[in-house]
Amino acid sequence: MRKKKDQFSWKQTWQINKRVFKMCTKAKPGFFAVRFATQILWAISPYVTLYCSARFLNELTAARRPEVLAWWVLLILGLTAALGVIGSLLRRLEEAGDGMRSFWLNWIYGQKALDMDFSKADDTRYSDRLVQILQTSNFSGHGIPNFTSLLPRLAGAFFKVAGGVALSVSLFVLPVKPQAQNLPLLKAGLVLAVGGILAVLVISPLLADKSIRAWNAAAEAGRSGNRFFNFYGNLLYTEEKRALDVRMYRQDLYGQEVDAANNSWTGDGVFVKLNRGILGIINGITEMLSQMMMGLVYLYVCLKAWYGAFGVGSVTQYVGALSSLAGGFSELMSIGAEIRGNTAFLKQVLDYLDIPNEMYQGSLTVEKRSDRQYEVEFRDVSFRYPGSQEYALSHVNMKFKVGEKLAVVGQNGSGKTTFIKLLCRLYDPTKGEILLNGIDIRKYDYQEYMSVFSVVFQDFQLLDAPLGENIGASLHYDKARGLECLEKAGLEEWFRTKAVKGLETRLYQHEDANEGIQISGGEEQKLAIARSLYRDAPFLVLDEPTAALDPMSEYEVYTRLNDIVEDKTAIYISHRLSSCRFCDEIAVFHQGQVIEKGSHEELLARGGKYSELWNAQAQYYV
Ligand code: ADP
Repeated sequence: MRKKKDQFSWKQTWQINKRVFKMCTKAKPGFFAVRFATQILWAISPYVTLYCSARFLNELTAARRPEVLAWWVLLILGLTAALGVIGSLLRRLEEAGDGMRSFWLNWIYGQKALDMDFSKADDTRYSDRLVQILQTSNFSGHGIPNFTSLLPRLAGAFFKVAGGVALSVSLFVLPVKPQAQNLPLLKAGLVLAVGGILAVLVISPLLADKSIRAWNAAAEAGRSGNRFFNFYGNLLYTEEKRALDVRMYRQDLYGQEVDAANNSWTGDGVFVKLNRGILGIINGITEMLSQMMMGLVYLYVCLKAWYGAFGVGSVTQYVGALSSLAGGFSELMSIGAEIRGNTAFLKQVLDYLDIPNEMYQGSLTVEKRSDRQYEVEFRDVSFRYPGSQEYALSHVNMKFKVGEKLAVVGQNGSGKTTFIKLLCRLYDPTKGEILLNGIDIRKYDYQEYMSVFSVVFQDFQLLDAPLGENIGASLHYDKARGLECLEKAGLEEWFRTKAVKGLETRLYQHEDANEGIQISGGEEQKLAIARSLYRDAPFLVLDEPTAALDPMSEYEVYTRLNDIVEDKTAIYISHRLSSCRFCDEIAVFHQGQVIEKGSHEELLARGGKYSELWNAQAQYYV
């Protein structure tokens, strides 16, 4: 149960943080070891010097033996140097770890995004959660970044307290001269110390809690401010694709207005108010309390020294140890409260990572047939997108074997792409089933099943990387095969004349590297085809593969299609009918149904929807 809004109980705090700790150590073993070591070392180093200097001063003001003094001096110098060197090394290691943190963290998020059911990854209600997590952690570090620094700091504070206690217990034990034993302050010393600690225990979490709550509330408000700032303060002016619009419509002026109205850091923004108000007051009160405590400590230590309990050196030790102890104690409290406050953000992360996958995950392997005889069948398949009332596909029956060329045609919105998404099991049918070699595709291991397909989606994306790596999706691709695929996709001439560094040629231009080449939409599309051929899957699906091509290139792709496809099954989606004439079978989609099926000639002769569309398009294209 949440006690109050955004605040978890200590038990929940422990459970959630423990799980995040395990997750982080699994993702990056050793990450915390360095951080803990650094914090602990920095926490105890001052005590080592404090202790040794006290012994030195005591010797100097009492027995004054030169060899003992020399020994303490050497020890202090040696230890300080050693601790300094180890501390600096650890700090560097820690900084290196900081730099790497976003890599493994993004890897965790990225893997989740990829493992999620496609229907959820495709749904902004889910994808927006990750955007929010990233925005919060970029903006204030809340969530895992803060966790990775708070936890080691907690360990550091703990050791600071432990060291302080170890060096100050004797203060309360060592006796003063008999005549001073009844002085009230001396008698009450231990009571005062315990009382002071209890006061800190009660007051500081209350104060820290208030400030963290205020900060967390502001982080919520700041998130939308951050979104505005990110876009209107930055992206609007720097995104290349916006350059024309911004100039044409003076969107920069609009951006300034929006930014001024929503920025939380300026004017009357929530952060300005916060710093002027509650945070300032809390800082002031905390400072005042700690100064009062230190006044009492000085008084007590000096009185005990005055009445002969210990020497001058020990005075420095006790004052130093107690002030460090008090500091460590309030750190412990405030870090504890911060960890608790941060837990709400960790919970958001865990909730995202815990989004369940609902699609059934089978485990069958796909039979690797040397004769490549695969058969896919849609058996009375109907499908509704999640949250939609309308069926995007209804009662689709279709069967195709390797080696056939199937065209899927129909007007926009008739269900062609949905058909492909179901074929690739990005979604499961609402009713009916899809079979591969007679077995429901849900029963196959998903990666195995996907290996049967190679799809060029309509909105494919190439990478800002060398040509060969784009095609082979690896640093270690097969060069000969890469060249062969480029040739089949009709890029032979282009490759010879434009790809100045062969397969090493980087795609897309950048000012800093100045080595990439700019490519046209048609070339991109052919490259996407080359990439799909490299995958060498038995089924090749091309979704509107010629949409970006000029008529000449389009003609070239069609005439080459037999070479491109070879013995594979090609499923070819197009709203341009002239491109489908060469296919063995044409399926005409209309409002989610397959209303006609047959060869070009058969369908024309039938005089139905196909011939209607054909005649309509013929006026424009043929
Ligand atoms: P086509 O590829 O033939 O243009 P689609 O398969 O993309 O058609 O779309 C078929 C129908 O499904 C359309 O009515 C479209 O609005 C709807 N649709 C497509 N994608 C989604 C989605 N992600 N969520 C809800 N409805 C969708």
